[in-house]
Amino acid sequence: MAAPKPQAVVVGGSIAGLSCAHALISAGWRVTVFEKSASPPDGSPTGAGLGLDPQSLRLLSQWISDPHLLQDVTFPLSIDLNRLTDSGTKASRTLTRDEDFDFRAAHWADLHSILLRTLPPDTVLWGHQFLSFEVSDGRSSVVTNARVLRTDEIIGIASDLVVAADGCLSSIRRRLFPDSKLSSLTVKVSDSMIEMMHEEADKIWVPELARVMKATKEPFINIIYDSDPLPKLFRDNVVLVGDAAHPTTPHGLRSTNMSIQDAAALGCCLEKWGWENLSSALEEYQSIRLPVISKQVLHARKLGRIKQGLALNCGSTFDPTTARQEECLQLQQRNMPYFEGVPITSDITLPSKQIGS
Ligand SMILES: Cc1cc2nc3c(=O)[nH]c(=O)nc-3n(C[C@H](O)[C@H](O)[C@H](O)COP(=O)(O)OP(=O)(O)OC[C@H]3O[C@@H](n4cnc5c(N)ncnc54)[C@H](O)[C@@H]3O)c2cc1C
Repeated sequence: MAAPKPQAVVVGGSIAGLSCAHALISAGWRVTVFEKSASPPDGSPTGAGLGLDPQSLRLLSQWISDPHLLQDVTFPLSIDLNRLTDSGTKASRTLTRDEDFDFRAAHWADLHSILLRTLPPDTVLWGHQFLSFEVSDGRSSVVTNARVLRTDEIIGIASDLVVAADGCLSSIRRRLFPDSKLSSLTVKVSDSMIEMMHEEADKIWVPELARVMKATKEPFINIIYDSDPLPKLFRDNVVLVGDAAHPTTPHGLRSTNMSIQDAAALGCCLEKWGWENLSSALEEYQSIRLPVISKQVLHARKLGRIKQGLALNCGSTFDPTTARQEECLQLQQRNMPYFEGVPITSDITLPSKQIGS
């Protein structure tokens, strides 16, 4: 008789959670995902879009198995352009332009939909809000408790591993690392900017929309979180992935790529060590991912500060109107640490490769 498969509970059914479900199932695990949203998204392609790097595209196409699916919902992001526009004269000038940029863009809902469709049915339990977990005395298993939102019933599932993919406000991260702090890079918009927006609204938008804009007390709420890199990525049988492991600013196009690469690394380590050696697998996952994500989070933070005109560590600020060519080059995405690809296990480094190639 075949040995029973090890079981994982994943908390959070967005990109990191579904990527982990794929990676762990490929590694021979049974996976249940708790997601608090009542049902799968309806697929409407809203949001700013996700910039996917060549390595993430390659990993996704391995999980999704039909590369055309991914090709169909992504479009080339082939130029990395930084421009400066004078808000008064509307004149604009190119600061940097990289035409050798082979990312692809996807709407969150499209990528989510194909990751979901290609999982075994019933992998995701919708409307299940994670509440707590308890690690057994011998640390051989962990019970995860969730509220079924439709009935208010509390259920518990025992598993060998819990994967926290519950996003940047992760309650699991807060429990494992109570000292970790989220910082916000959100810049307060000045009253004069809001006044200017109201004046423009009358000229540009239909009167109904201009009225709504003027009636809105705080028209710009766009909270950007990041956090100093964590000292560890797991404790006992509970491991962090995605934004739960590394809240990061969007300026480096990293959060989704890091989530996909976390999932791939976790799956490879679990497969390599087998569930009997879970702590070795998690140690290896942490030793591969911590150096990468720490550098990428800090670089994304620096890019954010440059682009928002905030003081850098050296005390100076980036002034795009006077910056020299060499200074502007630091805006390019290709300066991101590990831009050419990240290690996925300590044995294998996946080369960067475009899908379909
Ligand atoms: C609807 C949506 C649209 C997005 N659109 C964009 C975009 O256009 N551009 C962009 O750059 N990024 C976008 N993002 C963010 C992007 O997906 C993430 O930054 C990145 O992919 C890392 O994903 P994640 O799975 O770690 O975190 P998230 O995408 O934040 O997902 C966390 C998941 O955990 C679930 N969760 C949280 N707490 C609980 C709990 N207690 N119990 C059960 N489930 C819980 C949440 O409902 C959510 O589904 C979007 C995220 C979402 C959820």
